[in-house]
Amino acid sequence: MIAENDVVLAVDIGGTKTAVALADRDDVLLRVESAPTPAALGPAAVVATVIGLARRLLPSGARPLAGVGIGTAGVVDVSTGTIVSATDTFADWPGTPLADEVRRALGALVDAHAPVVVQNDVDAHAAGEFRHGAAAGASSALIVAVGTGVGAGVMLGGEAVRGAHHVAGEIAHMPTPGAEHLRCPCGRRGHLEAVGSGIGMHRHFLHLGGDPAVRDARGVAAAAETGDPLARRALADSASAVGRALAGAATLIDPERIVITGGVPNIGDAWWEPMRRAFAADAIDRLQSTPILPGVLGDEAPLRGAAASAWRAR
Ligand SMILES: [Zn+2]
Repeated sequence: MIAENDVVLAVDIGGTKTAVALADRDDVLLRVESAPTPAALGPAAVVATVIGLARRLLPSGARPLAGVGIGTAGVVDVSTGTIVSATDTFADWPGTPLADEVRRALGALVDAHAPVVVQNDVDAHAAGEFRHGAAAGASSALIVAVGTGVGAGVMLGGEAVRGAHHVAGEIAHMPTPGAEHLRCPCGRRGHLEAVGSGIGMHRHFLHLGGDPAVRDARGVAAAAETGDPLARRALADSASAVGRALAGAATLIDPERIVITGGVPNIGDAWWEPMRRAFAADAIDRLQSTPILPGVLGDEAPLRGAAASAWRAR
C-alpha cells in the first residue's frame, strides 16, 4: 500500500549533468543531487551515476519509491522506456533499455509494481512547464527550448504528443528559409536549429563576416549591444527564424500558449522583439493573440515534469 507521504524519483540526464530528485505527489522537489554525466563511458556508467545519486537521497530503511520518472537526452520510445537514437556525445546510448536497467539497478529501492517512465528531456521539460510553470492551467501548449540546440514538446488535450516515430515536436528540423547556407546537426541544410540555436546564431554571424574573435552566441549578443551591425543582424535573423517556426507550428496545432525556455531567450529584448515580430508577420489572424511566454521553472522543469509523468503512470 502506498502512503500519502510516498515519493517518486525524478531524473534528468543531460549531456553534461545528471540531476536526481525526490518529489512529492505535487511534483515538488524535496531534495536534489547532481553529478557530471559520464556520457562517453556508456550506458552502464550513466545508470550507475543515477543510482549513486539516488542512494544519496534515500535514507537507509526508506520505503520503496512509488515510481521513477526519467528525462534523458536522445529520442525515446516511451512505451518501452528504450533509447531509440542519440547524438555521439552518448556512447552506445541507442538501444539502451533504460527503464529496465534503472529498475534492475534500483532493486528493492523501487516498488515492484511502480512505473519507471522514460521520456526525452525536452518532453520532460515541457511536462514541467505545462503542469507547474508558464503553461499551468492550459489544456494545450507548445513548449520550445532554445539553447545550444532547439527542441520542443507538444501538449494537446492535457497529454504529451509523442508521434509515430517518437519525434513529434522536433521543431529543430523544420525547413527554415534563410538558413540554407548552414548545416544542421542532422546533416541537412536549412533547418531551424542551424540558425535558431545559440550555436547556429554564432555560425550565421561568422558566415556574415563577423569578427572571429567573438566565440559564441553570448559574444554575438554582447557585440550587438555595442552596435556591431553584423552581430545585430545575426541576432535578429536567428530570433526571427524561431518566430517564423513558431508561427508554422502554431498553425498546425493551435496551442493555447507557447512557452520558450533555454539560454538564448535570456539575451533579452534584442532576441524577443525580432522573434515576436516574425511570429506576428507569419501567423494568421486567429493566432495573433496566442501568448508567447518565457518559461518560469528553469532547471527544475525537467525534474518536475519527470516526476509528474511517474505519478500519472500509476
Ligand atoms: Zn536538421
